[in-house]
Amino acid sequence: MYTSHDVLDGARTFAQQELTGQQRYLDSFEEAPLPLYKRFHDQGLSNWWLPEEYGGHNIGLEDSVDIVSELAYGDAGAAFTLFISILGTTMVQLYGSEELRERHLTALTENGGFCATLGSEQAAGSELAKITTTIARDGGDLVISGDKYFSTNTGFADFLIVVGRSAENPGEFLAVLVPRHTPGLRVVRRWEMIGLRSSATYEVAFDGCRVPAANALQGPGLRLLEVALNASRILIATTALGISRRVRDLCMEYAENKPLQDGYLVDNPVFMSKLGGMETQIEVMRSQCRAAAREFDSIMAGPDAASAFVRHGTLRSALAAKMFCGQAGWQVAGSGSEMFGGLGFTNEHVIGKLLRDVRYVSIVEGGDAVLEELMFNRYVLPEPRRG
Ligand SMILES: Cc1cc2nc3c(=O)[nH]c(=O)nc-3n(C[C@H](O)[C@H](O)[C@H](O)COP(=O)(O)OP(=O)(O)OC[C@H]3O[C@@H](n4cnc5c(N)ncnc54)[C@H](O)[C@@H]3O)c2cc1C
Repeated sequence: MYTSHDVLDGARTFAQQELTGQQRYLDSFEEAPLPLYKRFHDQGLSNWWLPEEYGGHNIGLEDSVDIVSELAYGDAGAAFTLFISILGTTMVQLYGSEELRERHLTALTENGGFCATLGSEQAAGSELAKITTTIARDGGDLVISGDKYFSTNTGFADFLIVVGRSAENPGEFLAVLVPRHTPGLRVVRRWEMIGLRSSATYEVAFDGCRVPAANALQGPGLRLLEVALNASRILIATTALGISRRVRDLCMEYAENKPLQDGYLVDNPVFMSKLGGMETQIEVMRSQCRAAAREFDSIMAGPDAASAFVRHGTLRSALAAKMFCGQAGWQVAGSGSEMFGGLGFTNEHVIGKLLRDVRYVSIVEGGDAVLEELMFNRYVLPEPRRG
């Protein structure tokens, strides 16, 4: 088993050796770069957060913030691919039967595998309560039918967590574990995204896809998803931190060599002020991501984490981290792109890729308008009036 320092060192080295200098390849929208992710696994680093009993390194979310920041410094798409399984694995860890946990989480650590989570649909992205995918009971089985618009890693995942509406009781939502090669599950296409192009997000169709009823997670499906979104939202926020650190370093490197009339750009007071502002945003991003992750870890370490999380639902700190980092990261990347003049608007320089990559933070797992409304309803409205 590795310590958090081992994984952090490994992630930093991996980013330096495999990601940072590979921008053209990682941005090229080739096949998902699975050999790259296999090398991450071969170094014993994949799925680092999983508990020791399933063969993982049991690294908490607070330490994961620094690990993801290092990976995203190299490439945010690779970071996203390597951590987004945490959304589904957290649901299985907290709400799956012992048999599901033992079988599927252990296989993930052994094989360096992936898990995908399928919530959103064409007309149910931010408003997941509009989900139309149905899950019907048939004897000892569950039968899934419907279309899922976006799901990251599904094309090569070991298993999927699918959230759907009960066919018998439409007010009830279920979350079900579906092994990737189950008949009736079809990958329709891979989306060509404008950023995070080393990651792979798919549209998926279910047509009478049948799994044992024991594959259902225990509890209300939408609430279980909401619980696990805390972990993934904090790490999504963290990718903005990694990207912003890279932008800052690129700006410094450029300014030290960019001659102006009476010296170099780095000596210019306007530049100094911009970089001072960037550093301030980076510091606040890191503090907020770590604070939110610490809150998540403390609930996870409590006596009955599964029930405690169902009571808490969405954490205010996780919402704040995602919204703040998405906005601050976008400002940092925008300011950085301006710094390079015309070069910053070409594909010759990596800054354009960083700008495209950071955009997803304010969109995925709920856009800002929607999360602001959620923040208001859960944390601003007086308690008796909350939904
Ligand atoms: C790279 C990437 C990876 C993804 N991976 C996954 C995945 O693995 N699994 C998964 O389930 N999904 C995934 N998604 C989907 C993602 O979570 C949704 O796209 C996101 O939640 C936004 O939902 P939407 O696309 O339906 O847009 P909408 O929610 O329809 O938003 C469109 C517009 O409507 C506005 N809007 C919506 N509701 C309100 C409201 N109540 N008040 C005010 N304005 C509102 C929004 O602000 C936005 O401007 C992924 C998306 C991307 C881009």
